[in-house]
Amino acid sequence: METTFPYEIPDREIYRYLGYRNALPDEAVLQKIALCKERLIKDVSPKAIWQYYDITWQDDTTLLLEGIPVRSQNLSRNIADCHRICLLAVTLGPAPDRYIQKAEVTAMSDAVIYQAISAAMIEAYCYHINGLIRKEAEEEGYFLRPRFSPGYGDFPLEFQRNIGDLLQMAKNIGITLTDSLLMMPSKSVTAIIGLSKTNSECKEAGCEVCNKSATCAFRRI
Ligand code: SF4
Repeated sequence: METTFPYEIPDREIYRYLGYRNALPDEAVLQKIALCKERLIKDVSPKAIWQYYDITWQDDTTLLLEGIPVRSQNLSRNIADCHRICLLAVTLGPAPDRYIQKAEVTAMSDAVIYQAISAAMIEAYCYHINGLIRKEAEEEGYFLRPRFSPGYGDFPLEFQRNIGDLLQMAKNIGITLTDSLLMMPSKSVTAIIGLSKTNSECKEAGCEVCNKSATCAFRRI
């Protein structure tokens, strides 16, 4: 099968987004998942852009990025010893929204399945891009902190606009923002990743699943 998405999509994640915990979906649902997944894999157009920036600190909870003050206690703790960050934006393109909107009219259960698969796909794509960034960072002697997205904790959602401007998201990968700061296409992610000279052996999946989170000074929340 021709594919624009050669990245592994863990079935377990799709089931989790669909609300299955330990049980497996029945055969009819599994077949529907396989069909919807095949369509999405064929039609998505994953794109990513990332850039590195030096940052300075105005105070303990405010960093300066290209002269823009970014105030957030949670973000500042997470990247407290970083003087360099990576700004990242990724998207699956418009196909998931098209499939979801069409299914919302014809078969709501299919819309839920498209939602779950595309959520697992954007996560899988972020994982892939994160790996490329990690490799680049390590070549420069840096270690990555977990991704930190606007709207998470007290990191203002409004910072989406700054990321949009700095990365020229609309021009480069086709992500635009609505007045209420939602991204279009909806299966898109933006984030800051701290680059530290200290190897904290951070978990790709984030502080929530890290066994050091109870004691780590850099945990996100
Ligand atoms: S809790 Fe774990 S993943 Fe989070 S910053 Fe600390 S070491 Fe990294």
